[in-house]
Amino acid sequence: MSQPPTPPPPQHKRLARPADAVAPGAARPERSFTGIPIAPGVAIGPVFSASEPKVEVTRHKIQAADTPAEGARFDAAITQSRKQLLKLRARLAILPEESQQEIAPLIDAYIRMIGPSRLVRGVRRRIDETLLAAESAVVEEAEAIAGAIQAQVEPGMSAEDRAGLTRRADEVREIGRRLVRNLTHAPFRNFAALPAGAVLVSESLRPADAALLDPARLAGVAAEEGGADGHTGVMLRAVGVPAVLGAAGLAHAVRPGDVVVVDGTAGTVVLNPSVITLTAARRAVTAFARERQRYAMLRRLPAETQDGAEIELAANLELPLELPQIAQSGAHGIGLLRSEFLFMNRETVPDEASQTESYRSIVEAMEGDPVTIRTLDWGGEKEIEALSAAGIVPEVADANPALGLRGIRLLLRRPELFETQLAAILRAAVAGPVRVLLPMVTNVAEVRAARETYERVARRLRRRGERLPEKLPPLGIMIETPGAALSADALALEADFFAIGTNDLTAYTLAVDRGEADLAGLYDPMHPAVLRLVQFATEAALRMRMPVSVCGEMAGNPRLTPLLLGLGLRSFSMNAASVPRVKQVVRAVDIDACTRLARRVMEQSDAVAIAEMVDGFMGRPVG
Ligand code: PEP
Ligand code: MG
Repeated sequence: MSQPPTPPPPQHKRLARPADAVAPGAARPERSFTGIPIAPGVAIGPVFSASEPKVEVTRHKIQAADTPAEGARFDAAITQSRKQLLKLRARLAILPEESQQEIAPLIDAYIRMIGPSRLVRGVRRRIDETLLAAESAVVEEAEAIAGAIQAQVEPGMSAEDRAGLTRRADEVREIGRRLVRNLTHAPFRNFAALPAGAVLVSESLRPADAALLDPARLAGVAAEEGGADGHTGVMLRAVGVPAVLGAAGLAHAVRPGDVVVVDGTAGTVVLNPSVITLTAARRAVTAFARERQRYAMLRRLPAETQDGAEIELAANLELPLELPQIAQSGAHGIGLLRSEFLFMNRETVPDEASQTESYRSIVEAMEGDPVTIRTLDWGGEKEIEALSAAGIVPEVADANPALGLRGIRLLLRRPELFETQLAAILRAAVAGPVRVLLPMVTNVAEVRAARETYERVARRLRRRGERLPEKLPPLGIMIETPGAALSADALALEADFFAIGTNDLTAYTLAVDRGEADLAGLYDPMHPAVLRLVQFATEAALRMRMPVSVCGEMAGNPRLTPLLLGLGLRSFSMNAASVPRVKQVVRAVDIDACTRLARRVMEQSDAVAIAEMVDGFMGRPVG
């Protein structure tokens, strides 16, 4: 692929001196928060707090017969809001005592307001007596209570008392907004108001929200929720700005005008940094920029081990904005195109023509390098409004979305959705080498059914006179469930290639939510059970001489490269920014030594011992 035009400089470089513009928050003391490192680099900037996106509610009436159902919707929103707040409350325990003392009473006040409170009684009355839809009832009741609180302000009152009343009124409005968000299932956010150079701070961020962020305007991101390899994390890596998730208490501690330092390499966030912290952060920004320059020099060097084994390093693509970075990274093609972005943040499901156009433009941009397009992987935390609006998926999530109708299961149940996407991919495949990848496979019947659909779509397109590649693109499968990994020998007879998705494989093997900050310590891709499944699937593919790659976040972690090479893997697909880091390790190692490392690792039963072996292998920290 040819050298693209130089992309705009990353925000954290542009912001080398932003704190000059925003004087350190002298009035408020420095506060540190520890979270999970998501995307490397250091960002310094003013906080843009997006914890409570505004949801516009138009006054809406219901029929008298619908009041019980409306009351039930309101109850469900209360339950969900309480769950969210209790979870937040529990997570505050990791904060220093003094921070807890500031934030906990606020959360407690919110919890009280959705108990047997005036707000809740008032909303029910408005639903039952005024026949208002639940969200309209919440907005009107919250506003009425907030207005009554503010009306208590009297001329002779002290500034402190006035501020107290205003704060109480704001709290009522804020809990109202939370209830409305939960009633309306939080429509997608609009970050248009985000000022250039700001750091987005939020309680939670959905993958679809992260997909809307513009790296040319944004300095960094920090949120209270989210795990290392959840889809929001994956999306933030794609956006490419320094990011930290799982920073408990942060969103509730920020105030307008605060300045924040986000260190996405260390996983820390500092609110109102002192002069000393700011100086160190600026130094880190410069060091990171230098490191990037060093990595850029690796672009043209081959990904070849010391003993001459050629390793394929491809890029994952979650958003088209990654294309210039993929070109610069030296990646050989796209090993995983997550097609979910095409369906997110829009009101309707994209039709065949517009999908064809999107895939074709990506395939063309890769100029002959292969592109592996994964069909839609809906489910888990990947909410897609257009699919619920079209009635393709239920509006109310399953009790256990991660174990529900995810990936291939939905596609096989909704043939029109699947066929449209396959037709678009096949039509785009005339523009360059393409492979088709099926998500969340658990058994051979799914692959057989998918292949039948695939061939039927190709026949129909040919009858329609569409130009398709003479030979149908290979049809491969994700190995991302323990069921698939343990059936790898049987699946290898059905599929044309494997792509091992270590994110879901780790989550499903260890029964740990990959996007959950509280469980981050339990989510461990180096757990021997996960490694055994990777090994089993890899060996099944190698026996059949079938292509096999790793495309989960493990593939982009240079620390794990020697181990994966030692297990026999020669193909990796990862976030573009990781390609040079992994290439550096590939070029430094020797396959025999990696094989010996893998043998020793696979004899271990303890993830801690494995981590020590892996870290000891290079004799220095990697990454
Ligand atoms: C995986 O599960 O490892 C994977 C690559 O798929 P996703 O992260 O999109 O679920
Ligand atoms: Mg997956």
